[in-house]
Amino acid sequence: MYALIRGLFPICRSITGDGVRQTLEVLEKHIPLTVSEVPTGTQVFDWIIPQEWNIRDAYIKNSRGTRVVDFKQSNLHVLNYSVPVRATMSREELRPHLVSIPQHPTWIPYQTSYYARKWGFCVTDEQLRGLEEDQYEVCIDSTLSDGHLTYVECYVAGATTDEILVSCHVCHPSLCNDNLSGISVATFLAREIARQPRRYSYRFLFIPGTIGAIAWLARNRELASRIKGGLVLSCVGDAGGFHYKRSRRGDANIDRAMAQVLRYSGTPFELREFSPYGYDERQFCSPGFNLPMGCLSRSVWGEFPQYHTSADDLTFVEPAALAESLRVCVDVMDVLEHDRVYRNTNPYGEPALGRRGLYSGVTSENLSRLWVLNLADGDHSLLDIAERSGMNLAEIRTAVTELLEHGLLAEVE
Ligand code: ZN
Repeated sequence: MYALIRGLFPICRSITGDGVRQTLEVLEKHIPLTVSEVPTGTQVFDWIIPQEWNIRDAYIKNSRGTRVVDFKQSNLHVLNYSVPVRATMSREELRPHLVSIPQHPTWIPYQTSYYARKWGFCVTDEQLRGLEEDQYEVCIDSTLSDGHLTYVECYVAGATTDEILVSCHVCHPSLCNDNLSGISVATFLAREIARQPRRYSYRFLFIPGTIGAIAWLARNRELASRIKGGLVLSCVGDAGGFHYKRSRRGDANIDRAMAQVLRYSGTPFELREFSPYGYDERQFCSPGFNLPMGCLSRSVWGEFPQYHTSADDLTFVEPAALAESLRVCVDVMDVLEHDRVYRNTNPYGEPALGRRGLYSGVTSENLSRLWVLNLADGDHSLLDIAERSGMNLAEIRTAVTELLEHGLLAEVE
């Protein structure tokens, strides 16, 4: 997963353009993908697909011909979606087009202007303060023209057409935790899911933020009713504890499964309520859809200093953190896959467990069997039993397996 991030890091992505396509070509080496290209000008609900942005070079040169700011050193230097510019200007004329972070003088900020036509450079505060009075040659060799918005899907069919949706952004340039960690974990989750038999079908979306989710929803309005749960993955590669933001429903299966898994993950975690701001859960949980989708992060966007700066680089994400995030996702999907309803075949009084070698006194093993037998009334699912008993779902599942073997339980279709 870390190697995938390292390979994708140099590419200059945006909400449209060849950077997204190059990224998808890399992902295609790991998982099968279906590419969609939505033409500029297409109406998607209340939005319109914008022009496609591509960039080749950008710089600020001083009068001696030295590039004092250079896109080739970091693609963050260009305000993402800048209109093209070629001009010579004084430091004072240039100044309104420059942004920096005074508190972190060596970091480059990441800024965008998707829907207002502007040009600009993002620079370190040291670069900004080092600009002498001079005539500067300014060049942004970009194009904004009619083209397409690109997104891709990876579909892993299961026994039913009920779907689990996993979504991540592919629109950020050289930033690691924000975007690339989600892309990487989603890619390897798709591979893990495809490896074993499954009840649900899974769909993985690699889409540009906001407009991509809206475009996908607009083109898949009917299909959305099949979605029984899902996750938006963002910032899942840093060393911080987990944060899970519940779906708008608040009590969807995905919310309950995530609470169970995080409780026993051995890593600090926090559960947060839904709010209509953040990543693409905003679109998936809009009232017309109200999909059961939450958002999993480690450190939360906007709450760590490296967020949207050049410090969100290859040193900020860690292989072990990526692996742990993948493990949590795999475990959550496993909980959803196995959340079945059972019926106790001997509901009149407790069955004689001792005679069957299933009585082990006052142990949690025994207690989990008693909870399952009591709540297996055809109405309670395994998640219900785990929540009501306060026991680990893994223990509940072990008890279910044993009781099934002894004919004391039957699955309810
Ligand atoms: Zn971001």
